[in-house]
Amino acid sequence: MTTDRTTAASEDTKAIDVQGLRKSFGELEVLRGIDFSVARGEVVCVIGPSGSGKSTLLRCVNLLEEPSAGRVTVAGTEVTDPDVDIDLVRRRIGMVFQSFNLFPHLTALENLTIAQRRVLHRDRPEAERIARANLERVGLSDKASAYPAQLSGGQQQRVAIARALSMDPELMLFDEPTSALDPELVGDVLAVMRGLAQDGMTMLVVTHEMSFAREVADRVVFMDGGVIVEEGTPERVVGAPQHERTRTFLARVL
Ligand code: ADP
Ligand code: MG
Repeated sequence: MTTDRTTAASEDTKAIDVQGLRKSFGELEVLRGIDFSVARGEVVCVIGPSGSGKSTLLRCVNLLEEPSAGRVTVAGTEVTDPDVDIDLVRRRIGMVFQSFNLFPHLTALENLTIAQRRVLHRDRPEAERIARANLERVGLSDKASAYPAQLSGGQQQRVAIARALSMDPELMLFDEPTSALDPELVGDVLAVMRGLAQDGMTMLVVTHEMSFAREVADRVVFMDGGVIVEEGTPERVVGAPQHERTRTFLARVL
């Protein structure tokens, strides 16, 4: 018996599949019927005004919020199935938030090894080897012994990305990962994310960084008022939006 229900072969190329997703908080319906999917290896950027439901959508993908209706499937496992072991599913999803949420009393290296040891039961040498490789990947090999307070915001966010990578995620969710950073620190974080995309990581990224969306995204999704207003290539959605609401939003952020 397994609770990991793998769906038909045709679904195998989908990292995320969302069908008829609705989410209400009390009387407020925040997601009003969302259908979309992300293919394995695809980079999808979600853009849209504040309050449009972007974070709630991301949080429904790993069940930090429980959908009110609809189906969410991640890497072949239906997470909205009541019998699913959500901890097992979450282990396959890396999540990076606006706030870095590092443990302040642990070094960068220790921040990367703790979940590997506790959740994946890796021994210390293996966890440290993987942690060092991921610190190198984000350009911070020389900061292994630094505490979060000794790092800039951009460096802390890169440690947070390295921490997520150390769990060998099948896909990564990013919720405005550069919004809390001083402008001069944004570029280093985006460069790391660009590298991940080039390495073939599946990524769903909520961002206001239009140049990143333009250069890196395979597809851009514009949300407003809890629905997807339009989606398509960056050239189409950012370059030649079809809807007035998209044009109004872009005029404000570009
Ligand atoms: P975005 O990320 O696009 O800014 P959110 O998904 O964070 O939008 O929020 C969409 C709407 O849902 C907002 O009106 C917000 O106030 C509301 N909301 C989000 N989380 C909660 C919650 N836990 N309880 C009540 N309302 C919430
Ligand atoms: Mg948000």
